Amino acid sequence: MNRPERVFIGLGSNLTEPAEQLRQALGSLRRLPGCAWVGVSGLYASDSLLPGQSRYSNAVAALDTTLPPLTLLDALQAIENDQGRVRAERWGARTLDLDIILFGDRVLDEPRLRVPHYHLHARPFVLYPLAELVSEGFILADGRSLQALLHACPFEGLERQGELA
Ligand code: ATP
Ligand code: CA
Ligand code: CA
Repeated sequence: MNRPERVFIGLGSNLTEPAEQLRQALGSLRRLPGCAWVGVSGLYASDSLLPGQSRYSNAVAALDTTLPPLTLLDALQAIENDQGRVRAERWGARTLDLDIILFGDRVLDEPRLRVPHYHLHARPFVLYPLAELVSEGFILADGRSLQALLHACPFEGLERQGELA
């Protein structure tokens, strides 16, 4: 049996009742085999980084898993597909996006999976919800301090809309 590792999953949606999409996805995450539920951040909203797209809802969930990283990624992509994710253009509007933000103390640079997530430092809608789930002084697997990343990425434009679960 593998040792459980703590993973942080970024959830995002900007189509078809985004907050409900996130709640439905949380239900699926809670039922994932090989995973134990840890918790979820509050619900956040922010404008799309791309013009012409509707506002995004985001959150970060934490699980302890014994699944290998690519098996977890497969499971997350199956949940995205179940919730009607259509991949038309890169960064297009979506019913559900599930990104692996951190996977234990691993640093992975594989064609299908890069962790820590390659762009988390520039995404307040990832950093602030993540900060709700870790203790002060948290250090990422690649040695960066979450506090330093938060300092460099203002909360500006982000709206915390209460609890998701
Ligand atoms: P971004 O990656 O900038 O957040 P996106 O989430 O819209 O954009 P997707 O179309 O959902 O991108 O995913 C494209 C590919 O990214 C996936 O097929 C997956 O193999 C790969 N990928 C690499 N690293 C990760 C990760 N940490 N979490 C999820 N997918 C990842
Ligand atoms: Ca994403
Ligand atoms: Ca994704």
